[in-house]
Amino acid sequence: MTPDEILKAFDNIRVWQRGDRRAPHKPLLILMALGSLARGEKPRAEFAEVEGKLGRLLEEFGPSGSNATRHFPFWHLATDGLWQLDGPAEILARPPGATPTIGELRANHVSGGFPPEIQTAFQNNPALVAEVARSVLDAHFPESIRQDVLDAVGLSLEPADAGGGDPAARRRDPTFREKVLLAYEYRCCVCGHDMRLKHQPIALEAAHIKWFQAGGPDVEQNGLALCSLHHKVFDLGAFTIRPADYVMVFSQHLVGNAEKLLSYHGASIQLPQSASYLPRAEFLDWHENQVFKRPGRDAH
Ligand SMILES: [Zn+2]
Repeated sequence: MTPDEILKAFDNIRVWQRGDRRAPHKPLLILMALGSLARGEKPRAEFAEVEGKLGRLLEEFGPSGSNATRHFPFWHLATDGLWQLDGPAEILARPPGATPTIGELRANHVSGGFPPEIQTAFQNNPALVAEVARSVLDAHFPESIRQDVLDAVGLSLEPADAGGGDPAARRRDPTFREKVLLAYEYRCCVCGHDMRLKHQPIALEAAHIKWFQAGGPDVEQNGLALCSLHHKVFDLGAFTIRPADYVMVFSQHLVGNAEKLLSYHGASIQLPQSASYLPRAEFLDWHENQVFKRPGRDAH
């Protein structure tokens, strides 16, 4: 396979086929395996050796409860031709839909890794590792948390940066940011942050409620003006917004020195200047189901 063919194969992984539900399993397994490859670790590992780390990645960056299906990508990525499994013939001979249980994968010492041809291509071409990682990240995670995902799997994209160009360029509405910031009068809708440097708002961002990567449209009703901090914690699911009254609900998992943030729990966001820009319930519902780290804290 040429580097282009490999890149294309990773672009084509079958993930978004259940409508707009998030399925970050395969992307996270791929990124995790790329990270271990970049560190020169052994090319193949038993499920039992990697499930802990994969589960933690899913807990952090996937929808609530996705740790329970951490064995899915380990099994299903083989169908995409990007993963090779080793283990007892009676397990490997199962049809792709007959996913073994977590217990079966452990007990039978099933191991997996990139197929040798792809493994060799990566080893001979470290820039290709970065390129595949970048493409998988761009396709499945919003920009605000890509670095967090990279940090979590221990990958750096530096080598590919030297090549120039912008593979991340996508067809987005270039006016989305301005439309959303104007709708919220250039203020963070959580804390009111509106700092400017000369005329330039700083650390103020237009966030998608339903991620662009999940088909969320570039319209005001799917946007929120958020400062960098609140954008990040919103995309990580530390809080969500109730469609009925736009009240912020924080996650029970947000702990530590978070009093400042938690003081917004139970308060309404600062609403946009026109009712026609109000966040649409379907997008808020998506965020609650696919991003928010349940359970929410009690109402008060
Ligand atoms: Zn803020």
